[in-house]
Amino acid sequence: MDFQVSARKWRPQKFSQLIGQEHIVRTLSNAIELERISHAFLFSGTRGVGKTTTARILARVLNCEKGPTIEPCGTCSLCKEITEGHCIDVQEIDGASNNGVAEVRDLIDNVQYATSSARYKVYIIDEVHMLSKSAFNALLKTLEEPPPRVIFIFATTELIKIPETILSRCQCFEFKPLSNAQITKQLELICGQEEIEIDAKGLVEISKVGAGSMRDAQSLLDQVIAYSGKKIDADSVESVLGIVGGTTLELFAELLIKREPAELISLVQEVANQGKDLGLFCRSMMEYLRNLLMVKVSRNPESLLNTHTCDINVLKKQAEGFHNDELQQMFTILSRAETEMKRSSLSQMVFEMAILRLTETRPFKSIDDLIHKINQAEVEVQPARSAAPTPVAPVPQSNSSTTKSAPPSLAQPENGSFDSAIWTKIRQEVSRKRPAFEHYLDKCQVLALNEKEIQLMFSDSFTLEMVESPENIKFIKEMVKSASGHEVQVVLKLGEAKPSPSINTQEKKNLNDESQGRQKTESEIIQDALDIFGGTVVK
Ligand SMILES: [Zn+2]
Repeated sequence: MDFQVSARKWRPQKFSQLIGQEHIVRTLSNAIELERISHAFLFSGTRGVGKTTTARILARVLNCEKGPTIEPCGTCSLCKEITEGHCIDVQEIDGASNNGVAEVRDLIDNVQYATSSARYKVYIIDEVHMLSKSAFNALLKTLEEPPPRVIFIFATTELIKIPETILSRCQCFEFKPLSNAQITKQLELICGQEEIEIDAKGLVEISKVGAGSMRDAQSLLDQVIAYSGKKIDADSVESVLGIVGGTTLELFAELLIKREPAELISLVQEVANQGKDLGLFCRSMMEYLRNLLMVKVSRNPESLLNTHTCDINVLKKQAEGFHNDELQQMFTILSRAETEMKRSSLSQMVFEMAILRLTETRPFKSIDDLIHKINQAEVEVQPARSAAPTPVAPVPQSNSSTTKSAPPSLAQPENGSFDSAIWTKIRQEVSRKRPAFEHYLDKCQVLALNEKEIQLMFSDSFTLEMVESPENIKFIKEMVKSASGHEVQVVLKLGEAKPSPSINTQEKKNLNDESQGRQKTESEIIQDALDIFGGTVVK
């Protein structure tokens, strides 16, 4: 007997045999039963998930001598002809090779003729996204007013390339990739029928490499059978398909816990040298990380894992070496790498760079934690400040010529000038309201601070420009008012400023000394937060 590839031999012949596309089967079956059949269908989805198969079944459903029926007999001449691809009224056209406007015009001419023996003329156009723009345009009119009993079924792996004008004239169905479990079940059935002995782990491995495509998985099974004969074990599956085995994955995770970049790269090279597929290795690693995370988040991880392909005890032990969010970051890194590797001619290098990034992941500090810390600091800082004496060192006199005419500094309060404690109070207010602004005050010298005005001198024009915005002037006025009760003018100058003491330098030190063990003041923590997240403090 001639060898027939599994994918063809086990191709479903009726809706009830289709796997994983129940939503489509149901809609189509209802349409048949209610005799509300669209004249144009668009089937989209990744390769090997049953688009063309469904189109052929639909052609039989419509044309079976005992139909239209959702259970075509499979034995009448039309059923047979359609299955064998000989039916003159059911045409399968490859969109990739018949993509010009001339081919489409031929097709349209042909559409006008009545059927020869079948009930419906069915045109199945595969890879329809390959049609040229003008070819699509030529099709439009026919799609709009199709002759009676003509049905178009378009299939595509790239829905995004189909013009909107076509989509709007079709009933569209999206085919889902098949789950590993669905593929495994089908492979098991095939092996049972073909009297092939294969262990569960081997079946699962083949399904995983199939990556959602039943046709691919069946071709892989053929490949493994060709290599191993009728008795297949997981080891031979791994070596035929270039899969990296479980022990290598365990070793990989172990090196990741220890953050050993050099050894990880050596391992990648070793795997590549064995002729294994690095893309598959990347995917297996993603699955392994996912399993580690499942072990961490679930009390009953067994139900979430495929225990045929992993050792739960090893996973549990290794999971302790990772934080949840580290595993998620790593998964994301590998997921991007997997996509990039497919496009790159330097896929090994892309993979290696990704591996190095894995070793650099660190647990995130959660925003909740950070907010908690800020609140905590606020509670701690406030009482400490009010209890602390107001230590203000004298403001040094500037030697600069620009200050010769300046009013006396805070160290020598004159008539009408405030006590230097007011400056400290202003700094405290600023620290509380807008910690980021403290940074500017750190750089200025207070030339005057009295009931009428506050004069600040800055050494660099950049800082001066930043501070002299109307918004900031208003802010300084508010701060002085709230510290002293007076409305003052703000005068800013450029010159050789010797920064005036602030809570940032002195009081902050005192605060730290008082609250031993506390590392940062409130304003520093808020500044840290601003550094990390950007933005301004609203409250
Ligand atoms: Zn039939």
